[in-house]
Amino acid sequence: MAPRIFSPRFCDFPNACYRRRDLILKRGFFILLALLVSVLSAEAKSRRSAKKSRTPSPPAIQKNYSNTPFSTVVVDAGHGGRDDGGIPQNLLSEKQATLDVALRLDKELKKAGFKTVLTRRKDVFIPLDSRAAIANSHPGAVFVSIHFDSSPKRTPRGVDVHYATPGEAPLAATILRHLAKTTDGTNRGIKRARFCVLRKTRSRAVLAECGFLTNRTDADMVRKASYRQKLAKALCTGIVEYRNTLR
Ligand SMILES: [Zn+2]
Repeated sequence: MAPRIFSPRFCDFPNACYRRRDLILKRGFFILLALLVSVLSAEAKSRRSAKKSRTPSPPAIQKNYSNTPFSTVVVDAGHGGRDDGGIPQNLLSEKQATLDVALRLDKELKKAGFKTVLTRRKDVFIPLDSRAAIANSHPGAVFVSIHFDSSPKRTPRGVDVHYATPGEAPLAATILRHLAKTTDGTNRGIKRARFCVLRKTRSRAVLAECGFLTNRTDADMVRKASYRQKLAKALCTGIVEYRNTLR
């Protein structure tokens, strides 16, 4: 066996020194890294807040209507043509469901004595601006946009109604009260929104989300014609009730 050149005592001593030096270097490196990260994140944060303070708040929505009784309702079936609506997880086609409910609502409103205008009567694509323009060519009318909701998760369900300005909240609330009774689902409340058809219509306008087509319970109900008829009736009852509150 070859003689040992270094005894374990002499070998261990320099290794321990190197290890201590490595440790000090490593610690120093990590402290420097942590300092650099905190400086960079503070700088990014201040840049973000500066940018935020420069972002102008969205302009107020201008509406031009009087709270007098109305005789015309513009019924807007959401989506259509190349715009299917919804998301890939939808269990039903949104554009077909909205059109079906809109055509039923048209009949109900006529029975109740209203004049009606539909933004679409078949499966065609109508740009959002054109929908608002149709509503604006009927001053004093009420605009009701019909949609169905969707979510990447299966659990959300229920109905909600959107509006743009405080003056439209009573119309949204009245329609929602009747919709929620019909659906036997979750009442998700009335919500302020800046959707194009709500912003660009000068008349009173609301957008009703009549259930989630990504939720099994809601979609199974919407599949039935009798239920879509109930939705149309609820929308109509809400519109009539709101009109009766006006003088
Ligand atoms: Zn929609």
